[in-house]
Amino acid sequence: MTAALRGVLSLRLAGLLETLLPLPCPLCGKGVPFDGTPNMFCRACMERMPMIRGKVCRTCGAEVDGIFDSCSECMNSPKPPWTRAYALFKYNDEVLDCIHLFKYRGRTELARPLGRLAAGLPDLESFRYDCIVPIPLHWRRFLSRGYNQSRLFAEQLAKHLHIPVRSLLRRARYTKQQAFLTKKERNSNIVGAFSISDSTVAEMCSILLVDDVMTTGATLREAAGVLLDHGAERVDVLVIARRQRN
Ligand SMILES: [Zn+2]
Ligand SMILES: [Zn+2]
Repeated sequence: MTAALRGVLSLRLAGLLETLLPLPCPLCGKGVPFDGTPNMFCRACMERMPMIRGKVCRTCGAEVDGIFDSCSECMNSPKPPWTRAYALFKYNDEVLDCIHLFKYRGRTELARPLGRLAAGLPDLESFRYDCIVPIPLHWRRFLSRGYNQSRLFAEQLAKHLHIPVRSLLRRARYTKQQAFLTKKERNSNIVGAFSISDSTVAEMCSILLVDDVMTTGATLREAAGVLLDHGAERVDVLVIARRQRN
């Protein structure tokens, strides 16, 4: 049998198996993955969760329209310590539901499609990062939740980008959850929340810092500041969703 014939037969076989055993979407459990690959959202779920495309704000990863390079929120905020930001989804109710399932309801398998989609973000692979660093949880929160969603997301992203995940940050103190605080409270709540776990690794490294959602950016600012204070050469940030306040 020729190699070409074997290729055609294996493609046919894969197609047949997919028809016989359609893989359910990990989010709704009903639809078939839109691109036919395992662990991917279905077309209907993808349509409900709008990915950020087109011209983006380099400061926060949100979509911008008009002639400016930054969104209006970033133009009215102090410059962040990172060089560039990436965000996968616009923030709507469906994206919020997906992140809630992933973060609070034990649906850890959602890390796979989220990581894979994030790895395909435009420009991301044009810069070579030394490592990916997830925003850590305080050990008390880690024990009650059982996992760190940012770490799981970072691991999946790292698998596709072929770079290591390093836990260079740790929570120096227990903080209230940022989601329930005002912008002013978020800033004071998070100051001093992180410390470095290995400054020798951070030195001279280009780091991609990842978290689930960016709202005011206070958590990412604080964490990126600690990495840069300990010698990181460059820090960029990547989030599953950018939540704008307007
Ligand atoms: Zn679905
Ligand atoms: Zn922005």
